Order: sequence, then structure tokens, then C-alpha cells
Amino acid sequence: MNEYETPVVYELSVPGRQGVKLPKPDVHKTALPQELLRKELRLPELDELSSVRHFTRVSRKNFSVDGQFYPLGSCTMKYNPKVNEEAAALQGFRRTHPLLGARETQGAIALIYKLQESLKAVTGFEGFSLQCAAGAQGELAGVLMIRRYHHDRGDLKRTRILVPDSAHGTNPATCTMAGYTAETILSDSSGAVDLKALKTACAGEKAETVAGLMITNPGTLGLFEHRIREILRTVREAGGLVYGDGANLNALMGIIRPAELGFDVMHINLHKTFSTPHGGGGPGAGALGAGPALTAYLPGPIAALTGGTYSLAAPPKSIGRLKAFNGNFSVLVRAYTYIRLLGKEGIRRAAEYAVLNANYLKHLIKDEFPAAFGADRPCMHEFVVSPRMGNGITTMDIAKRLIDYGFHPPTVYFPLIVKEALMIEPTETESKETLEGFAAALKAIAQEARTNPELLKTAPHHTPVGRLDEIAAARKPVLRYQDKPAP
Ligand SMILES: *Cc1c(COP(=O)(O)O)cnc(C)c1O
Repeated sequence: MNEYETPVVYELSVPGRQGVKLPKPDVHKTALPQELLRKELRLPELDELSSVRHFTRVSRKNFSVDGQFYPLGSCTMKYNPKVNEEAAALQGFRRTHPLLGARETQGAIALIYKLQESLKAVTGFEGFSLQCAAGAQGELAGVLMIRRYHHDRGDLKRTRILVPDSAHGTNPATCTMAGYTAETILSDSSGAVDLKALKTACAGEKAETVAGLMITNPGTLGLFEHRIREILRTVREAGGLVYGDGANLNALMGIIRPAELGFDVMHINLHKTFSTPHGGGGPGAGALGAGPALTAYLPGPIAALTGGTYSLAAPPKSIGRLKAFNGNFSVLVRAYTYIRLLGKEGIRRAAEYAVLNANYLKHLIKDEFPAAFGADRPCMHEFVVSPRMGNGITTMDIAKRLIDYGFHPPTVYFPLIVKEALMIEPTETESKETLEGFAAALKAIAQEARTNPELLKTAPHHTPVGRLDEIAAARKPVLRYQDKPAP
């Protein structure tokens, strides 16, 4: 057992011990307002070294891309180049006050402008807004734009947005939040959108109530929606617009420009595809690209360049702001740095390697973990398996056991259309050795499932806490540290 495996001790406080000494004040001393001082708030008294060791030890208890393979499907946990952090930490970016005017912040606005232009080049869209804080917020903005578009034309009858049953949970949630009914379109036996079901949903009188479609390509099964043009044509002929969930752009960037497939609006998760550390809750950025029908409705402000001067303004029919100031600016700096680092060729190669890595891993584990859909054809950047180990072993057991092998588990129980889904996205930044090591761990776990299923049922074994009661955690959450366990 090494230092990092010892249990974390939280109670390190020693009365009177101090980490900092404040300088003698050179201004008049005033007593703190007593009503603001909480008597029950017992702050720990600790020296600096103990604090550093405590936080370093706690940080090592977590999984991270910098520490372990993190094949969390749909989340694109690629390596985040450290040069991104250097760029984001530049004083001129980090210390710029958001209330400064355009004249004082030409550099920052130039970066926003150049990132907009780069994303246009990658996706083919006509306009880009970098306002939104995440993919989900981009979705909401995009669907509100679709809504405004129909209303501006006096078309008030459209109430339904069609969403494939393989969609990310944020898609139907977005439709509902934007005031629409999310209508599920089933997948066919190959995992693609069931074209017949889609045509039925758009046929006859029903056509008048179709506001649009939300679709991910490649879909959450990691398969390219090969009839995408026909799908889009069907929705368009009914008078609907098409929202593209661009979370899976990592499979396509530099190869296909999504706007050319016919999407009207699409978000890109800059924190996924363009490498900002994510997974702990943010900050992220949902860049929103729009085609000719919707560019005027994009959220503002958007950066423009006229006569050598950069400025910020909202487009003419903008749906407004979704976030203060210019969104999560530091994520935009990272995304721009990453794009400049890779260049046009590098971006294409990243997508190619992402697909190659996924296919190599899919091949390595196919005997014990065959893909639930598309086992007989290449996948894109990820794939979904449906483990059937017997002995009562569930996907959760496999996921928990993977932690003992030093790997972050893949996404579990998503997409919903795959029973016991295990969704694996290795990304382009992993080496052949890492992929082989992960495949070996999965195979070892399959063997354990046959010979010692209890080992899986009770995993993880090498973590400070073992299997958690997830139902109790959801029903009776303990949201702050307590030195005594909750009753
Ligand atoms: C991650 C993801 C989203 C949501 O994006 P956030 O940035 O997490 O809000 C939507 N759709 C798909 C397919 C995703 O993978």
C-alpha cells in the first residue's frame, strides 16, 4: 500500500496552528460585522504544508485523463494539451475585465472572431455564436431559434420535435424546455433511424405540426447515419428544420462539414472535441453554428471584423443572451489554441485516429464483448457493447471492477436502446499499448465473471470506499462534509 492508497484523514485541525501570517495592516482597523460571523462555522486550523499534502492526496483519489485511461462514451475524454492552459493563463486574457469596452479588448475579441471563423471552416456553417456554456445550453438556444423562425413566419401550428430513441437525454429535455413535445422516433434493427417511422410522423396532416428534428450523427451507437440526407429531406418536406447534436464531431471533423449534410443549426461541445478538461461540472462551451435560415437568430454577442477593428454585436433577430458577457471565454481560448496547434491536417488526422482507435479496440474485445449494433461493420469514434456474462453479472459490476484495474469505466446504461449498455470511446490520443491494456483488463474481468462472480459483484475493492448505495445517494444526498456520518 502506498501513500495514495491510505484512507484520507479529514480531521487534521490543531487549535492555534496557522498557514499564513497576514502583514500588519497599514489602514485603520475595523471590527468585522458580528452578524456576518457564524459561530457554528468551525474553520480548520492548519499549516500550509499539511494543507498542500491534504489537497494533493485528495486530488490523487480521483480519476482524470492525466492519470488514467478514461473511455467515457459520448464524452470525448481526450488528452488536453498543456499549451492550452498556458494560453488561457496569459495575463491579457485572464485579467481582462468583462466590462471593458471593445477598444481595450481588441485581442480578446479577435480571438473570439478567429475561433468563429475556424469553426465555420471546420463545419461549413454560415454563422457562429460562442455564447453558450455547454452543449445542452446550445441545444436550448438552437431549438428556441427554430421556434422563433416558425413564429416569425406566422406558422404557429408546429408543436412537435422528432427525436430518435437513441438520443442523448438532453435532446428531449431541450424540446420540452423550449415548449415543444418531444416525439420519439424508433430505431430500426441496424441501429439507424427507422425511416418508415420518421415518414409516418411527417405524413399527411401531421406534417403541419412538425417543428423539426434533433439528430446526432454519428449517433450514440457510434454508427454513421447513412441515410442522413433522406432523413433531412423528409423533415424539410414537412416544413421542419433540423437541429444537429454535434457532440460527436470528433468522428467527422476535417472529413465532412456537417452544414453540407443539411443541418440548420448545430452545437459543438468545445470542451469535448476541442479539448478543455471537463467532467467535473465545467466550465464548458457549446459553440452554436447556423445555416442561412437561422443565422440571424443566433444568440449574441458575436464578434465581427470591419475595417481592421473587432467589435461585438447581436445579430438582427437574435433570440438574446443565454450567458453573461462572452460565455466561458477561457474555454474559447483553449479551443482556439487546440485548433491552431493541430491545423487543418491535424484536425482531420485526429478524427481518423479516433475512428481507428475505436475500431481497433472493438476488434480486440469482439469475442467477449461484441458490439450491440453494427458488429459486422466499422464503427465511428465509439461503440456500444451489451455484456451478457451470465452468473447474474451486470454492466455495473463490470464497470466497478474496471476501477480496480485502474481504468475509468466507460459510460453505462446509455444509450437506452441497448440493454446493459457499455459505451466505449477511446479517443485519438490513446496509445496502442493503452488500448491493449484496457482490452486485456476487460478479458480478465470476463474470465472472473465465469470463475469468481462475487469478485465483480462486490467491486471495487481497491478504492477508499467500496460499492456505493446509489439509490440512497440520490434519495438522501449528503451534500456537504460532515465530520460525523449522517444519521
Ligand atoms: C455531451 C453530450 C451532450 C450534452 O453536452 P453538455 O456539454 O454536456 O451539456 C449532448 N448530446 C450528446 C450526444 C453528448 O454526448
